[in-house]
Amino acid sequence: MRRLSAAAAIPVLLYALSACGHSNSEDRASLPTAASSAGTQAPSASASPALPSAPAAEAASSAPAASASSEESAEPSSAADNGVPLYRMNANYDIVPIDKDKTERKVVLLTFDDGPKDSTTLAPILDTLDKHHAKAIFFVNGYRVKKHPELLQEIFDRGQTIGNHSWDHIQLGKESADTIRKQLSDVQDIVKATVGSPPVFFRPPHGSGNADTHAIAKELGLLYMTWSDGSLDWEMSGDKIKDKTAAITRNITDQLHAGSNILMHELSWTAEALDSVLTTLEDKGYSFVDPGLIDVSDQP
Ligand SMILES: [Zn+2]
Repeated sequence: MRRLSAAAAIPVLLYALSACGHSNSEDRASLPTAASSAGTQAPSASASPALPSAPAAEAASSAPAASASSEESAEPSSAADNGVPLYRMNANYDIVPIDKDKTERKVVLLTFDDGPKDSTTLAPILDTLDKHHAKAIFFVNGYRVKKHPELLQEIFDRGQTIGNHSWDHIQLGKESADTIRKQLSDVQDIVKATVGSPPVFFRPPHGSGNADTHAIAKELGLLYMTWSDGSLDWEMSGDKIKDKTAAITRNITDQLHAGSNILMHELSWTAEALDSVLTTLEDKGYSFVDPGLIDVSDQP
């Protein structure tokens, strides 16, 4: 397949900005996490204190992973030339040091959902991450990967981490186990087929999950996360907000804490804001955790 360089201009598809939809619609009864509410439009815009999240239902460990079943045990795509993990995720979906005494605590995890969409938006995000020597997780949807495998390859080639965000961006918390399994495993398969290794991180669209979603993610070797610091960039389509860079920066810094799991999206205004956001975070003494240093086997 032809690879596009980041700079290559390809026609911009104007996507109807279907507000990426991290709405507050999650099935709280089945996913009582603090993070998902903090990340959504909690009026206070501040991160909720950590609440214990429901333990993921035990996976039926005998069930074969529907994907990733190839003989060649591929390295996880996020991973791990880095050797030993230095961080783990806690129940609030924050990224915390495994060894508090030896590892920098003041880090954030950068994440970009709902790609890959188009090179015009993606390229500046990748360039800005490079400028700040930052790594991030790009949570992708299968139907978008199918349209733009070259963009997935670009993300991978630039040393960024690919995460699973379901095939269709649906509310998995409302779906059957069979549907959930297909939504997740099809993404595992297409990512592996495209870049050679499957994701090890999973984020449910809309933060919507149920016990089956947790169990199936675990079956597939995926670390399940929502977020703990929502940029609210998904609410900024249209002209209502004049200075989107300022708004995104403020939303993130209002909720900022050590280990913040920051939710952003592949959106043009987020791409424009990113340099300022990352500079602000650096000025506040934060560094950007490499997803490859997170212990994905440690699901809280
Ligand atoms: Zn999404």
